[in-house]
Amino acid sequence: MDRRQFLNSSILGAASLAVTASGASLLTSCTPTEKKLEVPAPELRLSFQERTAPGESLNERLDYMESMGIVGFEPGGRNLAGRVNELQQALSGRNIKISAICAGFDGFILAEDPAVKAQFDSTMRDIIAAAGELGSTGVIMVPAFNGQKPCMPHTLDTREFLCEQMHELGEYALKHNTTVILEPLNRREAHYLRQVADAAAICRDAKSEGVKCMGDFWHMQEETSDYAAFLAAGKEYLQHVHVASRARRIMPGEDGEVDNYVEGFRALKQLNYPYYVSFECGTKGDRKQTVAAAVELLRTQWEQA
Ligand code: MG
Repeated sequence: MDRRQFLNSSILGAASLAVTASGASLLTSCTPTEKKLEVPAPELRLSFQERTAPGESLNERLDYMESMGIVGFEPGGRNLAGRVNELQQALSGRNIKISAICAGFDGFILAEDPAVKAQFDSTMRDIIAAAGELGSTGVIMVPAFNGQKPCMPHTLDTREFLCEQMHELGEYALKHNTTVILEPLNRREAHYLRQVADAAAICRDAKSEGVKCMGDFWHMQEETSDYAAFLAAGKEYLQHVHVASRARRIMPGEDGEVDNYVEGFRALKQLNYPYYVSFECGTKGDRKQTVAAAVELLRTQWEQA
């Protein structure tokens, strides 16, 4: 066994021990008859963004989603407060919940210009409050895109500032029964935050249960292991997942063999991940065919994981 194999088997062993331990503690707290009950298998809860499903109107797209067993919906955050009623009505009586809210604020949290930072503070808080009304798991945010300037320098002081600011946002989100979700991207789009474990460390250091993170399979080209990335965030911090094809960010499956999510899914299953895997991608093909094929591919790979 070489070092790599040893490390892999050690990580696997530790993870399966963790799963066994939580299963055991669950069983010991049960009555004797309940002991016979099996813990249900982790479910793949798929979610679509606003333009993922084919259809002309929101209702047509939601009808399509329901027919496909898609249980989450991830709208953009722009003008969310003005859309709460529309979205509540559209989802009423359906087996679809708001999964997360995708950004939509003005400004950015690491802006050097106080006016731009103030724009972020007020618009983000409006979105968080609306997200809470809609029962969202959280509001997704990126600390700074490469194109957003002037930006605070990437220093230890900036990280401390970010943790303090995230603490405040997280506490505000908790008051509204939701969270803020840090999304790592990749160095071409946002050099500041590129890896899931780094985002999870910021969550830890922000010291608020309202600060969470996510992984996006497309951006996760920066990771050496999808499996290790999700496990590093773990149950405590991993709140959302985005999925797309892995070369061109179109529908899973449209990039062929590179569209492999099995290792990431294996981590999600081991974590008993209770949240959503949400499509964030376009398509080069006929949407009716590529969306259906992508859903089937992900379900097949979830079974394989
Ligand atoms: Mg994303």
